[in-house]
Amino acid sequence: MVIVINKDEGEEKMVSIDELNSVKVLGVEFSGPLFTAKGWSRFNLLFVLTVCAFCSRQTVEAQTNGCSDRLDCESAWIGISSEEKSSVYEFAESYKNFIDGARTELSFVTNAINFAEGNGFENLQLVNSLAPGQKIYEVNRDRTISLFVIGREALVSGLHIVGAHIDSPRLELKGRPLYEDNGFALFQTNFHGGIKFHQWTNLPLALIGHVDKKDGARVPISVGLHPDDPIFLIPELSPHVDRDRNGKTLREFIGPEDLDPIVAHIPNLVDGGSVEEEVLGFLETQYGISRADLVSSELALVPAGKPRDLGFDRGLISAYGQDDRLAAYTTLRAIAEIGVPRKTVMAYLVDNEEVGNRNNTGAKSQYFEDLLSRLLYLQLGSDYKEPILRTAFRQSKFLSLDVNPGVNPMNPGVWESGNAPRLGFGLNLKLYGQGNTANSEFIAWTRNLLDRNSIPWQTSTYKVGSAGGGTIGGEFSRQNIEVIDFGVPLLSIHTPFAVSSKIDVHSLYRATKAFYSTED
Ligand SMILES: [Zn+2]
Repeated sequence: MVIVINKDEGEEKMVSIDELNSVKVLGVEFSGPLFTAKGWSRFNLLFVLTVCAFCSRQTVEAQTNGCSDRLDCESAWIGISSEEKSSVYEFAESYKNFIDGARTELSFVTNAINFAEGNGFENLQLVNSLAPGQKIYEVNRDRTISLFVIGREALVSGLHIVGAHIDSPRLELKGRPLYEDNGFALFQTNFHGGIKFHQWTNLPLALIGHVDKKDGARVPISVGLHPDDPIFLIPELSPHVDRDRNGKTLREFIGPEDLDPIVAHIPNLVDGGSVEEEVLGFLETQYGISRADLVSSELALVPAGKPRDLGFDRGLISAYGQDDRLAAYTTLRAIAEIGVPRKTVMAYLVDNEEVGNRNNTGAKSQYFEDLLSRLLYLQLGSDYKEPILRTAFRQSKFLSLDVNPGVNPMNPGVWESGNAPRLGFGLNLKLYGQGNTANSEFIAWTRNLLDRNSIPWQTSTYKVGSAGGGTIGGEFSRQNIEVIDFGVPLLSIHTPFAVSSKIDVHSLYRATKAFYSTED
């Protein structure tokens, strides 16, 4: 129940949650039973605003029945309205569509630029001054993208930043990939991120990326994503001839040098020349590239299948690249949909997390300081000094968003169940322990934010001593920024097709939007 006061009559009214749910204030529609309650016509809106924070907190506690305070929340699907379910499913369609076309950091950034410009963000290179509500983006070397909405307060008072990574585990070509063996042309590969090698065999693969030539020309390549395209495949042994290998460990069964896809097998039709030569001729004719041009290429082999709904109820999504373009997409959507925030908000979507945040486009790069110092300089001009950047960092809050493993029904025992995250139970706060957990006061602030906004959440701690994993958060806590790691749980993480729950994806989007919009 919520107490609403009719100021003109000086009396209190008890209004049910159902009634209040249909009423909104400030930008928001008025309808339903409360609107027709006795005395409502003289209701003083200003007074409503003064008690608004109290109202929303009470509303949430009633809606969640206080389960987040008791830590006994059930599946987040339970109790949602048909309208909310429609929103969850609609969001999932947009998400699947986006990650279908964004299968590497390069294609993510290309598509994110289109998204940003389509939502009114302007390139920082064209900006001369900053104003509240201004939407800005910048790209670092095609592999990292940042978006901002400038806040009402000066940047020195700190930012609300959400970071996520846009690279995913995959195979990539070596510098001299092409060779021929037993009548097949194949590509030598390396791997990016922690993969189980056997899972990448007998799987339709697409080849995407680009080749940079000595003259500065860049040649894009994308083969395997269109239904009419050919695909590539790493052949595994048939069981008929494999009996001697059955005693091997998984690691020995398929090793990192056993992951070479077939790329062709027809020799020269006239003179019987090699398949390898035929491939070189094709690359020259089709793309104008030589064997040496592949030295300066970035070509990834990624699963060619499209994102799909999973299960009769379509409640789950199976897709490649959800780690971590899931959080990158929810962040993009959230930052594009907020008004003028109090603090300047930022989305920082970076490369190379799966290999340790390396290189000048990864989270370890000083590009982050470079970018924020340039923004401060735009706001302050010659008054800008280094300590102002450090003050802004100290005053900032950072959500480091990344997916993480959820309880797998085939192997629940790898978790200590009391601290395990479950699909469909909302986002999870990662409580790693051993010095890697966010400060308790920031966790409390985050719980308050989530509960105030009715966002389902749970916690996650790995079974001690037998599992682990981190993400980009540590690179920003090093800068004296207040950082917390959130995620949503996935099944089959780091496999070619991971699995998420649509309601968790939507919950992460709502949490990010609440973080960007909060007046705290
Ligand atoms: Zn990962």
